[in-house]
Amino acid sequence: MRIAVAGGGPAGLAFAAFARLADPPDEVTVWERHRVEDTYGFGVILPPAALNTIRRADPRLADALEPHLTGWDEITVHRHGRFFTTGAPHLGAMSRRTLLRLLRQRCAELGVRVHQGAPAPGIAALAAGYDLVVAADGARSTTRDALAGQFGTTTERLAPDYLWLGAERSFDGLAFIVVATPRGPVTAHVYPYEPGRSTFLVEATHRPGTEERARLFAHPLAGARLLENRSRWSRFLQVRNSTWSSGNVVLLGDAAHTAHYSIGSGTRLALDDAHALVTALRSEPSVPAALAAYEAARRPIVEHTQRIGRASAAWFAGLADAGDAPPERFLVDLVTRGGRVSMRDLSADTAGVVPADTVPGGR
Ligand SMILES: Cc1cc2nc3c(=O)[nH]c(=O)nc-3n(C[C@H](O)[C@H](O)[C@H](O)COP(=O)(O)OP(=O)(O)OC[C@H]3O[C@@H](n4cnc5c(N)ncnc54)[C@H](O)[C@@H]3O)c2cc1C
Repeated sequence: MRIAVAGGGPAGLAFAAFARLADPPDEVTVWERHRVEDTYGFGVILPPAALNTIRRADPRLADALEPHLTGWDEITVHRHGRFFTTGAPHLGAMSRRTLLRLLRQRCAELGVRVHQGAPAPGIAALAAGYDLVVAADGARSTTRDALAGQFGTTTERLAPDYLWLGAERSFDGLAFIVVATPRGPVTAHVYPYEPGRSTFLVEATHRPGTEERARLFAHPLAGARLLENRSRWSRFLQVRNSTWSSGNVVLLGDAAHTAHYSIGSGTRLALDDAHALVTALRSEPSVPAALAAYEAARRPIVEHTQRIGRASAAWFAGLADAGDAPPERFLVDLVTRGGRVSMRDLSADTAGVVPADTVPGGR
């Protein structure tokens, strides 16, 4: 089968690699508009389940990725100048650049043709020239939008504004930092992804500038700098589609659906989509049957994740009204905010307030 993939992000590259492992291998061509040196982003969360999916699809890729994962088993909340830490289910993250580099490397080994630094051709040419067109070109997918009437796309911007930053410090685990300001709370969602580096996503309604951010987060940063890399204030774009395929064109990853960044699921969903689509193409007798099976397998999980993301987004947006709840109560509310993690997942003995005159662990 001849397959065209628009977009060389995690979804498109993982799909391309997995499709080459079919017997006989599919002929796969990927177009990625950015050059390799223009790859940006900090760390992305990859839970153990995501690595398991990759291992089922391509054990060699999983072996290549695993040493680059930074894992943790705790959550820390910083609030009103105090912090408290509790045990949490194991999670991990890795650099988005490293993830993409290793996916590109695996695609090259497996014989995927990648046109790097080249926008995908128009959808009409792709749909006519290939057996299958995979639109993996992200939340603002132009491939999808060229056929928007057919996918039933709806998009919505969720408040507040956010900014992807990095920190020159590896925090010990997931950290949520809430600082009260006269203009409302400023929140940072933080997790380590490689030695000496953490993702540091800042949320605020008033878009604090560089100096204000450094001042607000001076205590947890403990002298480390905040890093920018094409960082722009934005609002989370919630993407939904009433159907994920039209003719021989199928949506994958963020092009099909987004889930709020506060639950760290975007990359995992993209990789799981890639595996599910290749599985369906291998097991179903025709492309239309495979596309229907892919959507039937993925849609319930995606919609469940989107509901949790929505609840999480609403919880963070309502922080201004959280008042002075005791720290333990605040932590329980935070961890269970979307109903995704039960209190059974919290270790019973570690929750407690730590004085603010020391800074929680970091490397
Ligand atoms: C720049 C960026 C930085 C991010 N940083 C983080 C982060 O630090 N932490 C985190 O947890 N999540 C981050 N995310 C979100 C997370 O990475 C996504 O949820 C996940 O990558 C979804 O994968 P995807 O392949 O579906 O989409 P994307 O990762 O968006 O990949 C889509 C790809 O398609 C390409 N593309 C778009 N249009 C075309 C076209 N017409 N022709 C060819 N190529 C095209 C884009 O350049 C992009 O490489 C980031 C996303 C982006 C886009």
